[in-house]
Amino acid sequence: MTLSRRTFLLGLAGLAAASCASRRIAPAPAGRDPFTLGVASGYPRPHGFVLWTRLAPEPLAADGGMPPAPVPVAWEVGADETFARILARGEAIALPERAHAVHVEVGGLEPGRWYYYRFRTGDGVSPVGRTRTAPEGGVSRLVLAFASCQHYEHGHYAAYRHMAAEPLDLVVHLGDYIYEYSGLAGNKVRSHGAGEALTLEDYRRRYALYRLDPALQAAHAAFPWLVTWDDHEVDNDYAGDRSQDGDPREVFLARRAAAYQAYYEHMPLPRTAEPSGPTLRLYTQASFGPLARVFVLDGRQYRDPQPCPGPWRSGGRTVDKEDCPERWDPARTMLGWHQERWLREGLQRTRARWNLIAQQTMMAQADRRPGPGQAFWTDNWDGYPAARRRLLETLAAEGVSNPLVLSGDIHAFAVSDLKIDFDDPKSARVASELVTTSISSRGFSWRRIQEMVENNPHIQFADSRFRGYTVLELTPERAVARLRALQDVTNPESPLRTLAEFAVENGRPGPRRRA
Ligand code: FE
Ligand code: CA
Repeated sequence: MTLSRRTFLLGLAGLAAASCASRRIAPAPAGRDPFTLGVASGYPRPHGFVLWTRLAPEPLAADGGMPPAPVPVAWEVGADETFARILARGEAIALPERAHAVHVEVGGLEPGRWYYYRFRTGDGVSPVGRTRTAPEGGVSRLVLAFASCQHYEHGHYAAYRHMAAEPLDLVVHLGDYIYEYSGLAGNKVRSHGAGEALTLEDYRRRYALYRLDPALQAAHAAFPWLVTWDDHEVDNDYAGDRSQDGDPREVFLARRAAAYQAYYEHMPLPRTAEPSGPTLRLYTQASFGPLARVFVLDGRQYRDPQPCPGPWRSGGRTVDKEDCPERWDPARTMLGWHQERWLREGLQRTRARWNLIAQQTMMAQADRRPGPGQAFWTDNWDGYPAARRRLLETLAAEGVSNPLVLSGDIHAFAVSDLKIDFDDPKSARVASELVTTSISSRGFSWRRIQEMVENNPHIQFADSRFRGYTVLELTPERAVARLRALQDVTNPESPLRTLAEFAVENGRPGPRRRA
């Protein structure tokens, strides 16, 4: 039985389970484009990938403009844009319970090749997407872009317009794909047109709004993506089952379930990530032959609350080193014990030349107090230093080849050496960290970020002035990171330049500036 046929039958089995009475399959509404949200692909494997679309002729309506019935969607994969040669095809069912999103797992293809795909339903045909299978054997080069933090109200996605034109194999998104909160009037480039997202309907509408952006659609249609989330896909600074504002646990978990479901419905995620209530298995790894392995982490769903909360609310705050000994409690975890073990075992097994750890928040210690004394922000790895040390000790003890940590969250570029003891100048570098700036979210003050660099010798470079993304080119000899900086986030056609370039040589941890 082919994969596509099985997908179809599984879809039917799902339908049978969803309702005892026979359930009528409906066509997509005629005469209106159901593919307003574009197409996407993700999770490249040597023989396949995930294809995504969502039927929504009225994307901002609660029902997307779709009937409350299952709708069949045909998909096809071709060798080029003409689809003269179809290499795989099948039919999926778009369920109203899943906002008429479809996630197709295609198999049986060749490793390391470009493919083209499209969907059809009723009289509608989707835009053509392009995607690529992962290489299996030797490969001399892998180029990816990584990105984070794209508050819609803070600017346009000119960064994605440029990204879509880059010669990439892969895009990795590190979270804050949407923002649940809306800004005050008068201080925005464009508007959510709604307040804070709380319900499934709110989150669906928020994703639909973001996905209507043509530049974001272009970047999804051009490459396969790997994705993880940070806090704003649900609630600022949330930690596990704890909201920022101290909601009862059940209330917050219901909100988290709604947010996770909407996330799944709008991302090219595999079936293993299908949510179940307030849980969704997002952490995963992807292999790109002997050249690279990418570990994608979830630093939100399983974490302990931030240490030493303030009197009024949970979430991150800046604490004095002396005032918060709880920070170093070895029982505290950022990833949760299951994920920590999964990562340790993956790092023990990997034979890849480059091992990328794609995750949300800055990992390098960042003392925020100029001069004597130390103060730390508790929502990133500085709130979980024992867990960070366990991870860095694993990298050193296992002799993991060329670990590179990719991070987002701070709306700034930052390039650092990762050390087991950041306070000991003699402590060896065990890994390199590249923090990418935000796609559009407003940056922090230039003065504060410069103080951070002056205060922390292992942070080699940081710049909060620009929005953009980072391109990482891997070859067997070295990794080169190009920090791409937008001129003006309020301009959808803004030019872009390379702000700085860093290289990590094979076998020598620590980035070095090249340009
Ligand atoms: Fe952010
Ligand atoms: Ca200090």
